[in-house]
Amino acid sequence: MKTNAVTNCEIDKPLCNCGVVGIYNHPEAAVQVYYALHALQHRGQESAGIVASRESSKRPGERSFAIHKAHGLVLDVFNDPQILSEQLRGEHAIGHNRYSTTGSNIKRANIQPFFINSSAVGHLGLAHNGNLTNSATLRKLLSEEGAIFQTTTDSEVILHLIARSREDSIIGRIRDALRIVRGAYSLTILTDQGLVAARDPHGFRPLSIGRIGDGYIVASETCAFDILQAEYIRDVEHNEIVIIDDETVKTGEIKSIQIDDITPEARHCIFEYVYFSRPDSRIYGNSVDKVRRKLGKRLAEEAGVKPEVQDEKVVVIGVPDSSNTATLGYSQVNRELNAPNTRHEIGLIRSHYVGRTFISPGQKNREIKVRTKFNVVKGVLKDQNVVVIDDSIVRGTTSKALVNMLRSAEPEQIHMRISSPPITHPCLYGMDFPSKEELIANQYNLDVESIREELGVDTLQYLSVDGLLESAPAEDGIGYCTACFTGNYPVQIEVGATKLAFDEAE
Ligand code: SF4
Repeated sequence: MKTNAVTNCEIDKPLCNCGVVGIYNHPEAAVQVYYALHALQHRGQESAGIVASRESSKRPGERSFAIHKAHGLVLDVFNDPQILSEQLRGEHAIGHNRYSTTGSNIKRANIQPFFINSSAVGHLGLAHNGNLTNSATLRKLLSEEGAIFQTTTDSEVILHLIARSREDSIIGRIRDALRIVRGAYSLTILTDQGLVAARDPHGFRPLSIGRIGDGYIVASETCAFDILQAEYIRDVEHNEIVIIDDETVKTGEIKSIQIDDITPEARHCIFEYVYFSRPDSRIYGNSVDKVRRKLGKRLAEEAGVKPEVQDEKVVVIGVPDSSNTATLGYSQVNRELNAPNTRHEIGLIRSHYVGRTFISPGQKNREIKVRTKFNVVKGVLKDQNVVVIDDSIVRGTTSKALVNMLRSAEPEQIHMRISSPPITHPCLYGMDFPSKEELIANQYNLDVESIREELGVDTLQYLSVDGLLESAPAEDGIGYCTACFTGNYPVQIEVGATKLAFDEAE
């Protein structure tokens, strides 16, 4: 667990990992990437960076590259307008917001995008969202063969594999490298020839393609398109590499190749719908708002709150902001099915300005930490049957402090409803969860009654795994990763390879 003196975006929630973006053929590509990174700020607040390229004034037909990256929020990292308008000027750019899931969060070298320039590869910038499951093995093999790592991240392994491939073309090299790595990756890569975007064979993390003016944009979530008034075209499919270059700009044809010869059934991260992605985004081709609302509706079907007297009021409040949409769905269906007098109210107010508040570490400060972030609207809750909707419970520490705060408003009863199942396992694919032992569901052996007692609510119910899966859009060939709720990992951590696959092929 991190013990930063400065609070991060969320309290006791799995931490979002990274956001990636790429723009090809826009007169101010870096400025556009900057705004897109703002829209994706929720996916990572530790560091940000942009690599940009433009036609070289000294060597016609060639491109020159520039990079700027640092610790901090997008606003802080690009606080000097000259960085975007001068240093990073050009028609093509990629960007990255980072929250570290592997590698030290302090090491400056770990900040992305990464950038290399070699005679074999040319210029290449890379931004990665996800987590590789065989990076430790690959790192060891590459190091034994003389590779020198500059960072402690899994993403750098991809760069070394690209550099080491014996394919002639850069796309061949990228494909070669991606056939060796396992796990989760949504990538934007800027080369001398164009913008490349790729998603791992299971498609754990989202990645969408859009049109911006005469150019193209690729981003983790479509909220990045909206801020730029870009138009959504389609997703990068799982097991797909797309290539956007000058030819694409002329003809409109987005080139596409497969990574592995056989495409497995997708395993999209279902937690993106529950919590990580913004509700105004479209991910995996679907509206997050719509799915999140459905989660709330299904929760009301499975775990509605019915007052003893039919006309008695039920006040439904959400834990802002991530539970707001599920709360709307819940209150609508609870009104229809269980209590005609169900009312949706704003009972908790969240401060959006605590990101920089100094908080001294330690358990006893938990309450004050929560109070800097949330406050209750007492008049709405007094003497009411209150249903509080949250999207997930991780350690339970924030939930417990929130319940204490709600009790101070003197409600009649507090019923807690969670729009996802109990979290029992950590994520291997790019989300930062606490250890298995710290998860409240494991501390109480999945005994919901004991968790209820610990949190101090009158009733507690979670959404079922079936309810979660049935609320997510169903399509042929598309499945979901539910590992943090079920322990069913689609890809295991890989150990023990003795040779790189390049070498095996020889
Ligand atoms: S383990 Fe959970 S958070 Fe990680 S990819 Fe699977 S569903 Fe998403």
